[in-house]
Amino acid sequence: MSEATRLAEPVTGRCLCGAVTITVEAMHAEVDICHCAMCQRWGGAFFAGVKGESVAVTGEEAVTVYPSSPWAERAFCGTCGSNLWYRFLPTGSRSFLAGLFDLPAGFGIEQQIFVDEKPDWYDILQESPMKTGAQIIAEMASQGGSGD
Ligand SMILES: [Zn+2]
Repeated sequence: MSEATRLAEPVTGRCLCGAVTITVEAMHAEVDICHCAMCQRWGGAFFAGVKGESVAVTGEEAVTVYPSSPWAERAFCGTCGSNLWYRFLPTGSRSFLAGLFDLPAGFGIEQQIFVDEKPDWYDILQESPMKTGAQIIAEMASQGGSGD
C-alpha cells in the first residue's frame, strides 16, 4: 500500500465521560485492525486503531496505563473505563481507538493483523441480520427491556 492519505484538519476524540480528549494531527485516513487474543480480551473484540503525526492529550490525570507486555502498554480512562490507546514501547508510537473519534467518511482499512487469532463469530461479512440503531431500539422496547 502506498503512503496513506492524511486528514488536512486535526481530529479530536474523547472517552465516554469526556475526562480525556485526544487531538491527532495529520491522521492517516485508514484504520489498522488487530485480531490478537490480547486485543480481544482488552476490548471485547478486534482493535481498530488510528494514528497520526502529533498528538495532544488533555485529562492525563484520568489516564491509567497498563503495561500489557514487555514491549507495549495500553491506556484507559480511570473514570469511565474507555480504552484509549496502545503504545508500542520500542518506538513510542501510539495507536488510538478509532471509536473515540468522529471520523469523516472515506476511511479504509490499511491492514488486518493476527488474523489467525480472529474468532469466527465476528466475521462481519458473514450473512446475518443487519439492523439500524432505530430498529434494535424499537425491538428492545417491544420486548420491555433495556437490552443491557
Ligand atoms: Zn472517561
